[in-house]
Amino acid sequence: MRQRLAVGNWKMHGSLPENRTLLEALAAAAGPDRVICAVCVPFPYLAQAQAALGGSRVAWGAQNVSQHPKGAFTGEVSAAMLREFGCRYVLVGHSERRQLFGEDDATVVAKAKAALAAGLTPIFCVGETLAEREAGVTQQVVGRQVSAAAEGLGNEGLGAVVLAYEPVWAIGTGKTATPAQAQEVHAFVRGLLKARSASLAASVPVLYGGSVKAANAAELFAMADVDGGLVGGASLVAEEFVAICRAAGGQE
Ligand code: PGA
Repeated sequence: MRQRLAVGNWKMHGSLPENRTLLEALAAAAGPDRVICAVCVPFPYLAQAQAALGGSRVAWGAQNVSQHPKGAFTGEVSAAMLREFGCRYVLVGHSERRQLFGEDDATVVAKAKAALAAGLTPIFCVGETLAEREAGVTQQVVGRQVSAAAEGLGNEGLGAVVLAYEPVWAIGTGKTATPAQAQEVHAFVRGLLKARSASLAASVPVLYGGSVKAANAAELFAMADVDGGLVGGASLVAEEFVAICRAAGGQE
């Protein structure tokens, strides 16, 4: 059975006192057994997340990682460093990294490889822009991104990642994809996995991201090929994120 997850992406938000309140609330809220809840925090807050969440049922991770293992790469952070701070997950290929920081498919795959080599689970993000959706090329775009992951990582590597479908037009806009729109793309992604192997299709979780809130999480997560969510803004509010974790576990 596919793992269900609710993953918070704090982006460049937070401060030590704000984080403390949020992390304590998350650690205290016992989530349902069948869902993994995790938060991906800015690098400087990893030690704080480790201290606050260690021993709780909430996992943590980072939002970016270097594709290089070590060396003269000023400003970069390696996967091994993330492991030292107890990270289980790392986002790769978020649309903000692709669009604002020029990350292409090859870079994203290299980052996922570096994460896997260090024992981290990459959360590999894919998704089309509004212009691409309107031009009717959603499947080509998402297909190209998933194929890059499949070809670069091989079946074994792909089997160890979490995929996240995040339509760029739904991120931070309040314009969530409808459950049917999400399911359509998730089913397409599931089909791509199945074309490689039935066991990949049966095991790789595919999360939906883009304006997920407590109010819409249950209907999105009820879709057959949606295995949980990658949550930006709503993950900064403890009650919202706890409710989203519950919804990912099938509890209202
Ligand atoms: P949002 O962000 O939930 O604020 O739309 C999602 C994401 O970018 O991962």
